[in-house]
Amino acid sequence: MRVDGERLREDFDALAAIGATPAGGVERPSLGDAHLAARAWFLARAEAAGLETSVDAAGNHSALLRRNGPTLLLGSHLDSVPNGGRFDGALGVVAALHVLLTVQAAGLELPLTLEAIDFTDEEGTLVGLLGSEALAGVLAAESLEAPRGGRAALAAGLARAGLREDRLADARRDPASLAAYLELHIEQGPVLECAGAQIGVVTGIVGARSYSLHFRGAAAHAGTTPMDARQDAGLAAASFAVAAEELVVRNFPGCVATVGDVRLEPGAYNVVPGSAHLALEFRALETPELDVLETALLDRARNEAARRGVELGITPVGRWEPTTLDAGLGAVIERVAGGLGLASMRLPSGAGHDAQVLAGITRAGMIFVPSVGGLSHAPGELTAWEDCVNGANVLLAAALAIALPRVASAA
Ligand SMILES: [Zn+2]
Repeated sequence: MRVDGERLREDFDALAAIGATPAGGVERPSLGDAHLAARAWFLARAEAAGLETSVDAAGNHSALLRRNGPTLLLGSHLDSVPNGGRFDGALGVVAALHVLLTVQAAGLELPLTLEAIDFTDEEGTLVGLLGSEALAGVLAAESLEAPRGGRAALAAGLARAGLREDRLADARRDPASLAAYLELHIEQGPVLECAGAQIGVVTGIVGARSYSLHFRGAAAHAGTTPMDARQDAGLAAASFAVAAEELVVRNFPGCVATVGDVRLEPGAYNVVPGSAHLALEFRALETPELDVLETALLDRARNEAARRGVELGITPVGRWEPTTLDAGLGAVIERVAGGLGLASMRLPSGAGHDAQVLAGITRAGMIFVPSVGGLSHAPGELTAWEDCVNGANVLLAAALAIALPRVASAA
């Protein structure tokens, strides 16, 4: 059994036209007009094919092929980052829909319900992983009180979508109602392409922590203050950024650390910076490694501050824990990919996904397909169409193997 690659392409293209940007990408920030239009398209497409549809209290949109038994969730997201690409999230939702359509067309009676789900606000324009966290029952009050995108944007988005903040938690599902979760997604990195692999079997999702670092020195006259008499907060921040890269490259292979923003104050040609705010984020696949990396980076920041005679304030601003995906599902994905004649490899995900939330309440597995040049979160994001179809067929075969384990292993 295979998905209809041509219909998959038609649907993918129809979706990519919603919120399309001149550069060839899409702009569908969560719960904005284009995102809501994409979600409406998804439900209409499912209904036209005779599938049942539903929208839960967190705005998660679903198409269902309902049978007796627990639900096998297949999903991803239709929102995008600002000026994003066509494939991130959308491929997983369209492929999930086509798994249902293929099973429906074959008249196959599975002992479980198949549900293709589009999770609300995966990308974090508003909160990040909002829909999957609500479904998993782990949406924290603090993430709604101080959302990444600000309170006003969250309130406006919820109002546009007809959602109520005090009811979002009603989307919670009983874990016993779920058989498993599978997600097809583009890799968003260069590993599969470099290895010449067609399918990635995702072993886990990195954990990330972020800190706001504030170096406080003394603003001074840039002409009259000698070089050896300065407390230059800007230089402390700059030395730390360079030192952080050296530290990770030398001592933490496989980890990443990024200084994504530096703001100097007062910010003038003729004033030694008295203050520097720096945004630090770092990621690792295991919690102990993340702990050691955190200690090493923050110690380094303290050393740079001391060396420059400036003070340092350290404020944690975010963290998500590393997630191990289900090894049994990984083996299933590997086996069905091999059965389809596709070369697969195991790899971790350096990006966050709804699967990391679902892994807390059910078996979760992820399938990656190659990203050309490793490019993502940009209009030029591209996955060869053949790879997209391969990914959809692996998703279908994995779903069938989960639904019919004895039949699949006998086949
Ligand atoms: Zn994504």
